[in-house]
Amino acid sequence: MSEQQVQYEAMPVPMTDEQIAQLVAGEVCPACGGRKCADQAFCPTDFIALTVWMRRCMSMGVKHPEFVGNFRGALRHLQLNPQRKKNIPVRAGEWPYSTDEELEKAGFKFLNHAHCSVPGCHVRIEWYRTPRGACIAVNLADYQRHSLSCADPMYFQKRREERAQTSARKKLQKKKRRKV
Ligand SMILES: [Zn+2]
Ligand SMILES: [Zn+2]
Repeated sequence: MSEQQVQYEAMPVPMTDEQIAQLVAGEVCPACGGRKCADQAFCPTDFIALTVWMRRCMSMGVKHPEFVGNFRGALRHLQLNPQRKKNIPVRAGEWPYSTDEELEKAGFKFLNHAHCSVPGCHVRIEWYRTPRGACIAVNLADYQRHSLSCADPMYFQKRREERAQTSARKKLQKKKRRKV
């Protein structure tokens, strides 16, 4: 169990309205113990993990008469669903990670260290398995996707296209064989 989860379970619910007002005014996220902005209910990671309805309630602000009740519900929801990675939608092209810890927290699995095999690049990279099961190379230096800074960025694009073509060909061959 991570340190973050321990802190997070230590926070008792229900709390008094005053305690909730204090938590919201402070800079410690009541769900994970991490940092948050003052006057926000939770840190961005936990906020995103809430349902749309709960997010709307939390955006009403602490002065809204229904806020504290919804806050307790939202906090309980976060406590009962400590796995954030499934709830955080990362849009295509978005890369919010800059450390190995952040990657692992988001469900990426470290595979191995390597040097980029693109001719003329040879930068040190780390391979990770993404939560969806694909492999991805990140720079050892900054944990950004290596394909964006590679000496030959088109290399990855070409490889992807080649793979897509090969699998399409294989499917076609299978179909043909079935017909025979
Ligand atoms: Zn948090
Ligand atoms: Zn490279």
